[in-house]
Amino acid sequence: MKRFIELAALSVAILIVAGQHPAPAQTPSMSGGPVDPAIVEDLVAANRVLADEGVLDAYGHVSMRDPRNPSRYMMSRSLAPILVSASDIMEFDLDSTPVDQRGRLMYLERFIHGEIYKARPDVNSVVHCHTPSFLPFCVCQVGLRPIYHMSGFLGRGVARFEIRDFAAEATDMLVSNPELGKGLAKSLGDKQIVLMRGHGATMAGQSVKHAVFRAIYGALNAAVQLEAMRLGEVTYLSDEEALKGAEINDRFVDRSWTLWKLEALAKK
Ligand SMILES: [Zn+2]
Repeated sequence: MKRFIELAALSVAILIVAGQHPAPAQTPSMSGGPVDPAIVEDLVAANRVLADEGVLDAYGHVSMRDPRNPSRYMMSRSLAPILVSASDIMEFDLDSTPVDQRGRLMYLERFIHGEIYKARPDVNSVVHCHTPSFLPFCVCQVGLRPIYHMSGFLGRGVARFEIRDFAAEATDMLVSNPELGKGLAKSLGDKQIVLMRGHGATMAGQSVKHAVFRAIYGALNAAVQLEAMRLGEVTYLSDEEALKGAEINDRFVDRSWTLWKLEALAKK
C-alpha cells in the first residue's frame, strides 16, 4: 500500500510539473501509475509518423497496450495525430473507459482498440485510419493483395468488416460503441488488417512498430495495386513469397521505425 501511495503521489507531481491540473476525482485504484517516458515517446512518435506518412490526417488514431498491465491501453485524447504530445496520452481499460478522464475529449471510436485488445492477447498496438488508398478495396470485392515484399503481411489474410452485420439500424459508420467494437474485432479474427466498408481500415501488431509498419506499407500497397491494375494483369506475390517477406519484415522492423521516429520527433 505504501508503495502504491508513493506512486500515486509521484503521478500527481509529474502532472504538476507538466503544467496540468492534478485529477480532482481520481480513481487511483484503477491507475497503473506513471508510465516509462520512453514508452510514451514511442506512442507520440507513432502518431506523428502516421501523420507524416499520410496514413492519418486530422482523424484516425493509434494505441498501445500498456506494457505494465495487459488490461489497460494508452491512446491520445481526441486530437489530430500530428499534434499529439506526451501530456495528451490517456489510459483506458479494455472497456475503453478512461482511468482518469479529467474532462478531456476522447476518440469516439476508441472501442475499436479496447475490443481488439480483449479479443487478441497477441496484439499490443492498433492503428485505425481512413486513408484514401484503402477505400476502393473497402467498397469493391477486389482483393487487397501483396504487390511486393514490403507488404507481405497482406498474404496472411485481409479481413472485411460490414457494419450493417452488427447494427439493427443505419449507423453514422463510426465504431462508436462496444457492440460495434466487438463486431469489428470478430471480423478481424486472427488477421492483421481489416478493411471497413465505407470507412477505412484497422491494423494490428505485436508492437507499435509493427502496427505502424503495416499501416504505412498496407496503404502504399493499395495505391500501387490500383496503379498496376490500370496497366493490366497483375502478378502478385505467391502465398509463400508473401509469408517469407512478412517474416523478414517483422524481424527488421526497427530499421524503418528508427528512421521514421527520428524524422517525426525532429520536427517539434
Ligand atoms: Zn474511423
